[in-house]
Amino acid sequence: MPPMSVEQTIPDNIEIDVKQSQVRINWQDGLQTEYPFTGLRKACPCAECEALRKNDDPLRIFQPEQAITEGVLRPYNPAQMVGNYALQFFWADGHSAGIYTFKFLRKISGQ
Ligand SMILES: [Zn+2]
Repeated sequence: MPPMSVEQTIPDNIEIDVKQSQVRINWQDGLQTEYPFTGLRKACPCAECEALRKNDDPLRIFQPEQAITEGVLRPYNPAQMVGNYALQFFWADGHSAGIYTFKFLRKISGQ
């Protein structure tokens, strides 16, 4: 994959659609990408979730995906900007350690 251009990593508009449980981002290069909350939670880049995803011990009762709670954002202030380079989500179960950089969000969109 060629390196990302600056336009591909800067959002023009970010919409957190709690009704449809998805985040929509319009990027400066004109592309719009959609992220279901559940997918965002599963991709949480914090160290804790990363460790959970890597732990594939077959003796564990729950698979890592099942151990990570479902993606439900708290209804008020569900997300905030971190500087001008990332988003932080506040999940209903209190988890908020993941810092989702725009580069990361663009990357996980696969586009
Ligand atoms: Zn996390």
